[in-house]
Amino acid sequence: MNQPNSNEVILIGGGVIGLSIAYELTCRGQQVRILERGNQIAREASWAGAGILPPANPDSALNPCEKLRGISHRLHPQWAKRLQQESGIDTGFRQCGGIYLAKKPGEAASLAGYISMLNEEGIEASFLSKDKLLAIEPTLDPDQFQAAYLLPDEMTLRNPRHVKALAKACELRGVRIDTQCEVLDFESSDGIITGLRTTAGPVTGGQYCITSGAWSSELLKQVTAIPTGIVPIRGQMILFEASKSLIHHILSEGSRYLVPRADGKVLAGSCEEEVGFQKGTTPEILNQLADFAYSLVPALKEHEITMSWSGLRPGSFDGMPYIGKIPNIDNLFMASGHFRSGIHLSTGTAVLMADLLEGKDSEISVEHFGIIR
Ligand SMILES: Cc1cc2nc3c(=O)[nH]c(=O)nc-3n(C[C@H](O)[C@H](O)[C@H](O)COP(=O)(O)OP(=O)(O)OC[C@H]3O[C@@H](n4cnc5c(N)ncnc54)[C@H](O)[C@@H]3O)c2cc1C
Repeated sequence: MNQPNSNEVILIGGGVIGLSIAYELTCRGQQVRILERGNQIAREASWAGAGILPPANPDSALNPCEKLRGISHRLHPQWAKRLQQESGIDTGFRQCGGIYLAKKPGEAASLAGYISMLNEEGIEASFLSKDKLLAIEPTLDPDQFQAAYLLPDEMTLRNPRHVKALAKACELRGVRIDTQCEVLDFESSDGIITGLRTTAGPVTGGQYCITSGAWSSELLKQVTAIPTGIVPIRGQMILFEASKSLIHHILSEGSRYLVPRADGKVLAGSCEEEVGFQKGTTPEILNQLADFAYSLVPALKEHEITMSWSGLRPGSFDGMPYIGKIPNIDNLFMASGHFRSGIHLSTGTAVLMADLLEGKDSEISVEHFGIIR
């Protein structure tokens, strides 16, 4: 497996970020290889997430992160179409719209502020009267909400299908994906990475990019003392079995949400826990998620919870991803720390990182996402 290829870009970690960068690079004619330590590709945070893509507008974004979000948002419909055509896999992408809800006066006030910021950025978000809310979501009790807003441009996709489609499209275009290949350490000389030590033997390429999600900081420590502060933040989810569509939009209240799937099933999430690299669910959080779901849609009480799971988000100290070159090392890069938005930001991150690896100028300066900031 270890024929050195100095033109090859090696991506360390095959989650949505590694796969998306690989897809963008291979579409530009680059040679790419992904090293993934799991038995299967993309079975960590990228598999576990809810797949919510909140609306964003790159033309009027107020900061670089919002700009990246806006660019990513515009790319998602195009990527979903291309991935379906190339892989034959329907990613479940759809523009179902979102409804943001507030139950308490304080929540309503902060939501109103958030909505006016969205409107300033040219993002459509309109107040829903109780009658209108009931008309579009008949299973909700409108009397329990102080405020409700409709965001028609909110989209969703099904994570497991999206990453499967990405992996297949990558492989069909010639990307080599090695599973059960954990990168343990770097070999370097004169500020250049000369190779990787992995559980499957040495690997050599031309450029290297750390896309190891919540584990990125641990890996970076092997080669530099620069801290990034990427920490694992656990999120738990539950799935309600429902055959008919009980809800039609993504329903969000604070940091919690219900996501309707096209087959009628409903996802409820999530939480933010700092428990190190420990995955797993807890009865306490699962009960809280169920209570949250029942409080919005009482009809869910009649439906069984058939699955629960957790994932480790790559949290960064300021919520912004790290996308850039590692200082003092010529051919080592990192794209990680996307926290709660990695699925959403994956398309824009892929374009930005591919530009950087090719030495091209980008629509957004990567300095905003620098490893040192
Ligand atoms: C419950 C939950 C809900 C979420 N909801 C949303 C949402 O609605 N919208 C949204 O945009 N985002 C959401 N997210 C966040 C999103 O899932 C993450 O930001 C994103 O998946 C991060 O992708 P990643 O590729 O960086 O990390 P990961 O998917 O974790 O991938 C990293 C990969 O690197 C591999 N790896 C690690 N170390 C090594 C090594 N040394 N060698 C080789 N391979 C290695 C791992 O095995 C893993 O496969 C959610 C996350 C969770 C947990």
